[in-house]
Amino acid sequence: MASTVSTKPHAVCVPFPAQSHINAMVQLAKLLHTRGFHITFVNTEYNHQRLLKSRGSDPSMGVDGFVFDCIPDGLPPVEIEATQSVPDLCYYTRFSCVAPFRELLARLTDSDVPPVSCVISDTAMNFTQQVAIGFGIRRIAFYPASASSFLAFLQYPELQERGYIPLKDESQLNNGYLETPLDWIDGMLGIRLRDMPSLIRTTDPNDIMLQFCTVESQLATTASAMIINTFDHLEATILKILCSRVPSIYTIGPLHTLSRKISDPKLHSIESNLWIEDTSCLEWLDNKQPQSVLYVNFGSITVVTSKQLEEFAWGLANSKMPFLWVIRPDLVREEGARLPQGFAEETKERGIVATWCNQEQVLGHRAIGGFLTHSGWNSTMESICNGVPMICWPFFADQQTNCYLACAVWGIGIEIDNNVKREEVEAHVKELLQGDKGKEMRKMAMKWKELAENAIEGGSSINNLDRLVTQGQLKLS
Ligand code: UDP
Repeated sequence: MASTVSTKPHAVCVPFPAQSHINAMVQLAKLLHTRGFHITFVNTEYNHQRLLKSRGSDPSMGVDGFVFDCIPDGLPPVEIEATQSVPDLCYYTRFSCVAPFRELLARLTDSDVPPVSCVISDTAMNFTQQVAIGFGIRRIAFYPASASSFLAFLQYPELQERGYIPLKDESQLNNGYLETPLDWIDGMLGIRLRDMPSLIRTTDPNDIMLQFCTVESQLATTASAMIINTFDHLEATILKILCSRVPSIYTIGPLHTLSRKISDPKLHSIESNLWIEDTSCLEWLDNKQPQSVLYVNFGSITVVTSKQLEEFAWGLANSKMPFLWVIRPDLVREEGARLPQGFAEETKERGIVATWCNQEQVLGHRAIGGFLTHSGWNSTMESICNGVPMICWPFFADQQTNCYLACAVWGIGIEIDNNVKREEVEAHVKELLQGDKGKEMRKMAMKWKELAENAIEGGSSINNLDRLVTQGQLKLS
């Protein structure tokens, strides 16, 4: 083995097996590679197959020292392409991945690659910690979302102790109970029960997701450090509070913008989209006026009912505004994505529907004036980094907290009721693209965009990346 190779630090990166988590981890891995790291990127077998299919080739794009590996997720087999159930993934990976991950580390230890210096794994993949420790390897937790939502997850035990959750009965979902202010939570001014990550919305104290989030977020704080995909200015107060609960925090975000600075074109071309991208929508945008188009996309996991799809469709149509709407083949819960009759005809002059796009490129297009989003963290950050204001329709998990941040804290979002109505969609779309509130929100979004740029151009995020690499957290243990 050449001595130059064996002295390289080696990071084993393990994302949670969902699109957004994989995207953020790939960006982090690419940045570490530019800092001289050998990377082993561990997907589940299922996602590895999807990636091979969507990329059409080796996902590492032939980059030396960047290797994709995989382990089984333990879920019953399903047709490749369907979005896997998040509760199932949470339930199974904790147990099923332990032995395969141990075998993988053993294989890496015996092979001709640099010795593993650290495991960087998602805060939802805490099983990796004991395995890594067993090999004498340090584990660093990676939280791909906002510091605020992580702090919110850490409140789950207190919410239970104070008797707020689990819910007493289903009626509490609709009778105003979720509006209860939680004014005892430091740093989260005006936060309500409904802004907490949505897994609290259960009457079952043994609910898998409630249990998983309560236990796993606490466990993640026992890692030797935590990387968060945010930047200091965006969540300054929360980060100060979080520092007392988590040992060493490295805010390194927005990762997608930081990784865009990578100059090596081969490394740059490593991408993690599990769906095949439709590029024609970008050409369609080229012919539109600046800031005139509403972009609609609910991410990789959200599912809607046919009724909700219909309300969104007629809301968009009635707004008379141009739109690009991404509808995944599995977006609709019941019977496939079927748009209402007459919608295509009504909107053919000003609307386009695609199945999956390169979202970063879409949000960076000058024609985009607003984003109707489910408030996933990556989508939120990608919107901020392009100065695009949002209409927020949070679906689940941390998205409720992200929506609170966008609307009540940063002034760049308008929330739409979960029980979506076409009139509300129409009014919000018009307001966002043409109203005074929309203009105000765009100004604020531009301000956050500038702060994000500062964080990566010689600011906190790039400094934290350097600190992480040079101060020993990622060195050989
Ligand atoms: N994404 C994309 N094209 C699409 C939809 C989503 O590239 O048509 C990417 C998007 O850029 C983001 C991720 O998928 O990085 C979605 O992550 P997010 O946290 O917003 O939501 P989730 O999918 O976890 O609900």
